[in-house]
Amino acid sequence: MDSNITKVAVAYGDGIGPEIMHATLRILEAAGANIEAEKIEVGEKVYLSGNSAGIEKSAWEIINKNKIILKAPITTPQGKGYKSLNVTLRKSLGLFANVRPVNAYAPYVQTNFAGMDVVIVRENEEDLYAGIEHQQTQDVVQCLKLITRPGCEKIVRYAFEYAQAYGRKKVTCMVKDNIMKLTDGLFHNVFKEIAAEYPNIESNSQIIDIGAARLAASPKNYDVIVTSNLYGDIISDIAAEIAGSVGMAGSANIGKNIAMFEAIHGSAPDIAGKKIANPSGLLNAAVMMLSHVGKTKIADMVKNAWLTTLEQGYHTADVYQEAITKEVVSTSEFASIVIENLGKRPTTLPVSNLADGNGEIVIPEYKRKEQKQVLLGVDVFINWKGTDAYIIGDILSGIDSFKMKLKMITNRGVKVYPEGMKETYCTDHWRCRFVDINSRVEGNLVYNPVDFEKIIALLSKLNDEGFQVIKTENLYEFDGKRAFSLGQGE
Ligand code: NAD
Repeated sequence: MDSNITKVAVAYGDGIGPEIMHATLRILEAAGANIEAEKIEVGEKVYLSGNSAGIEKSAWEIINKNKIILKAPITTPQGKGYKSLNVTLRKSLGLFANVRPVNAYAPYVQTNFAGMDVVIVRENEEDLYAGIEHQQTQDVVQCLKLITRPGCEKIVRYAFEYAQAYGRKKVTCMVKDNIMKLTDGLFHNVFKEIAAEYPNIESNSQIIDIGAARLAASPKNYDVIVTSNLYGDIISDIAAEIAGSVGMAGSANIGKNIAMFEAIHGSAPDIAGKKIANPSGLLNAAVMMLSHVGKTKIADMVKNAWLTTLEQGYHTADVYQEAITKEVVSTSEFASIVIENLGKRPTTLPVSNLADGNGEIVIPEYKRKEQKQVLLGVDVFINWKGTDAYIIGDILSGIDSFKMKLKMITNRGVKVYPEGMKETYCTDHWRCRFVDINSRVEGNLVYNPVDFEKIIALLSKLNDEGFQVIKTENLYEFDGKRAFSLGQGE
């Protein structure tokens, strides 16, 4: 028995949630984890009572008090207007890191990749998941991809600290900075900076497309992978699928003060109430929780008892294999056998040894280094129904615009004026780049700084001339470095 009480906000969830939560809590109690569970109301019942966020006010209070959440899967009702509870929890509580260890348990769980042991550390709050979308013209919608330096530093450092704490040897960064040089480029640069602080941990980077393909083909070449939100969402599902462990894997959502642990599967309404659900995903999440709060010995004891149960051939129906399964057991029978096995260690699967880890993961506060920001121009996005770039280009070039001049026009990122190609398809969404009249735009670019007043005057002029400005983006340099992309073909 661990003498420290760990207070945990417990969400029993929907569908199979209550069954697997009862099974999990029984095992934790028998292992002497000393958990004080306080129930929170979230999920389907709360949604259907008219609360579109799916979480009651009292639940927020319990979460803020206990700081640790163990959550069973919930059912999001069909229909519009219901906000994803997971996204709400992650964002509201600042749960910046999603950590998903993915293991193969061959031959007890079918997989082509015996021995697979990969941890995916996914940024959890920003990227395309910031949820900032707009329709700008009749034909064009936009989703903003937001990547921040503090966000990158937190997640990349977390990945290296995790590797250090859990005896991992290598961290691989996956992004697509050959295309997204500023956003994914920032993530990659931060990765290189932070990797240099951990000389004992090997580090490498791969472009996400080939990285995902190689992960699917040879997962043994990966140890810890760190990546941004969307890529992480995709590759963590690829990894769980090829390991054969979608029903077995747990995940952690880690914040500065609060952390949430859950299974990766959903509420499985098709088997709810049948007493056949596999509690392993939630149990593995609970093992991560115990390790997170420093109860690593108990975490190992539970994990090893669970591995032993798998080896003994006591399986829930979802992982039944004729040649391997000795007996198909119910959810609660499975939990009882894990409890009987507490203290035993697996003989063929790798023994869990979290207790050898070297401690709590602390991420330092972000330290901002001030940079000199200079305004160099503006991209004005115009809704124009014409299709000939030379018509709009010539009009805009001729505009007396209070000392700003048109440098180029792109359509969907491709330069169409001046010197565009007739073949480039143009929509009603024209990005018109204006710079100071004295900037040199031929040969070596030299931008003159611009006063914001000039931009306001330009916008006013464009409006007077009948152009519909749908959005502007200022062009800056930071510490003398251009901080905007060039048009393709520019
Ligand atoms: P699901 O993961 O619930 O089920 C997919 C299949 O896997 C089903 O056949 C199910 O019976 C089986 N399965 C899942 N977990 C199992 C377990 N522990 N033991 C045995 N079999 C298991 O996915 P779904 O059907 O797409 O989604 C059902 C509901 O779950 C939806 O309302 C969805 O929104 C929700 N969901 C919630 C979460 C979460 O709360 N974190 C995650 C994913 C889906």
